[in-house]
Amino acid sequence: MEIDSFLRKLPKVELHAHLNGSLSRSTMLELQRYYADSGMTDNMNAFFDEFEMAAGDPRSFSDCFQVFRIAHNLTTTPSALEIALFSTLKEFQDDGCCYIELRSTPRDTQYMSKRQYIDTLVKSIRTSPQHLTIITRLIISICRHSPLADAEEIADLAIEFYKSYPDIVVGIDFSGNPTVGSFKDFVPALSRAREAGLKVTLHCGEVFNPSEVQEMLEFKPERIGHGTCIHPKYRGTDETWVNLCKSRIPVELCLTSNVNSKSISDYDSHHFKYYYTAGIPLVICTDDKGVFSTSLSHEYKICAETFHLEPSKLAELSLKACDYIFAEDMRTKVKEIISNFVQKNC
Ligand code: 5GP
Repeated sequence: MEIDSFLRKLPKVELHAHLNGSLSRSTMLELQRYYADSGMTDNMNAFFDEFEMAAGDPRSFSDCFQVFRIAHNLTTTPSALEIALFSTLKEFQDDGCCYIELRSTPRDTQYMSKRQYIDTLVKSIRTSPQHLTIITRLIISICRHSPLADAEEIADLAIEFYKSYPDIVVGIDFSGNPTVGSFKDFVPALSRAREAGLKVTLHCGEVFNPSEVQEMLEFKPERIGHGTCIHPKYRGTDETWVNLCKSRIPVELCLTSNVNSKSISDYDSHHFKYYYTAGIPLVICTDDKGVFSTSLSHEYKICAETFHLEPSKLAELSLKACDYIFAEDMRTKVKEIISNFVQKNC
């Protein structure tokens, strides 16, 4: 089987995908049509070209956080959110993804509250149409550039929905512009969620901030996202690297996102190679497949080409990712799906 086809067919696990950053051009067009059909013309101005950030885009890392407004403008009602969800899940499924932990930040909009936002996602996932066979779980995000009161409210809602729907809501995420806000301030909200049983993933070390990286690693989240500035060669310190190596916290790596947002200069220089060589648990993810015009199979292909990984090693990466799934009851099932494919094709 040629590599593109192999990687698309390989059952894969997506553990770091933000819903509003994952909207494809066709999903955005579908959403535009929905708003037009509903007579809500204020949402007609979707600046698709501005939403996508290709390699070499002149915008800065911080500018990336402005583009999400374009998607947010298209997910303001429960119906629009459901369209965005189903369309995005279908795209992941068509790309060979068999399990996804999708994350999203609840927002109050003109047409729905944060509670309705979560309720829509949870109920839509539970009643997904039959053609969606991808196993889907939800991670609720807290945004570090929002007021603390929002974080507290989201933590409360996450706990409430986790208690009512433990089959859907599995974790809490800390994300948003890393150059704004301080992790310390959000520890009480995140700790409450963790004490209630939610697993925690933190966007960690996206920019130079070794003291915050240390605080995050000491918090002992179940996973971290990106982990760019942790190794001393990547604006981390000996201490942050040693700490990560000791703690063996799994890292969600998003190569194209890091390159296109200029956290990393090119694929060859990506920290993947240090993590892979050091045996740090890692999982290949997309982050924002709409913004960065990528797919999970494409991210695997980049790893294959850049780091010369054989198909069997790529399949191994997909299989290992199962151990870092928050929904522990799903690990064996997802492993079986991947193992069956591997036995027949590797
Ligand atoms: P949403 O949570 O609205 O579904 O997805 C978009 C949001 O995810 C953004 O507004 C931002 O808060 C967060 N996000 C998306 N990509 C990144 C990333 O690469 N780093 C960080 N820190 N946050 C991100």
